[in-house]
Amino acid sequence: MYKRQAFEFLAVDAAALAPAPGAACARPSYRPRDRGAKRKRDDDGGPGPRAARVAVVVPFRDAHVEQKRAAHLATFVPHVTAFLAKHCADYRVFVVEQSADGRKFNRGQLLNCGYVLAKRAGCDAFVFHDVDLLPSDDLGPWYAAKPRAGAPCHVARVWDRYSGNPDYFGGVASWSAGDFERINGFPNNYWGWGGEDDEMMRRSKTVFGEGFTMAAPSAGSLEDLEDMGIAEKVEFLRGHKDWKCNVRWELRDEHAATWRSNGLRIAGGDLGVVEVATADLGDRASKVTVDLALAGDWTDKHAPE
Ligand code: UDP
Ligand code: MN
Repeated sequence: MYKRQAFEFLAVDAAALAPAPGAACARPSYRPRDRGAKRKRDDDGGPGPRAARVAVVVPFRDAHVEQKRAAHLATFVPHVTAFLAKHCADYRVFVVEQSADGRKFNRGQLLNCGYVLAKRAGCDAFVFHDVDLLPSDDLGPWYAAKPRAGAPCHVARVWDRYSGNPDYFGGVASWSAGDFERINGFPNNYWGWGGEDDEMMRRSKTVFGEGFTMAAPSAGSLEDLEDMGIAEKVEFLRGHKDWKCNVRWELRDEHAATWRSNGLRIAGGDLGVVEVATADLGDRASKVTVDLALAGDWTDKHAPE
């Protein structure tokens, strides 16, 4: 059993992260003060204008008891609906469940389906949200806002699993419709754990420029219901190799050739959402079970679990 604990954001002095004189620094370092300074320059009082209706889109499947996803969902929904009711003008929670298709979990395609459903329901800000992360109250403004053009927000940057690497994009991230459509959403063919969030970052750099970094809160915390650091998580997954996306490096190499037709837009038109069941989860929250689609290419044979 792991002890549950909240991860607190730790302010880091930018000087402490600076490279030694003469040292090469290929990537921007993690600089919370710079982010604060940027927000101040924008003089908007926060991450963006208030959204009319916020969507929280949650990828979900309760296939492996060890993962305790049903328990996470039972904790997440009441927490997040109370949180959203407090902070947002209006909101909807879409839990998008992968049907029992015999394939590995596909977070990217589920989030694309959720985006389509949320947009149809009139939402204008889209928070892609893992089921095992519970936001603290001081993150409210980051959920209530519609990110400005070119400035999607990595809310989960406050979680220490994600704070050390500016290229991480997982956990909780908020997008406007315009930007999410510009990057063509998530890839549809990452079956299994890992890689789809890295592809989001590649798409963002391709579309917004190599210097792209996400906006991120400088205070707040996320409680991790899984309660595993990255090392523990990697160890846990080592025992379940078949849950992972083991072709994510090959997929990475296809980025430039495929991103335009592997997301919200696919070769034949728009990604379809095949709903097979819906369940009411309470106030403005629902679970939609969907049948996911194969891509019709070499990745199909890597989909089965
Ligand atoms: N998830 C799920 N069922 C699964 C695997 C993943 O519902 O079998 C969802 C759940 O929302 C989870 C998210 O996908 O929080 C990301 O997976 P995971 O928590 O394993 O990723 P990590 O915490 O390692 O980034
Ligand atoms: Mn997790």
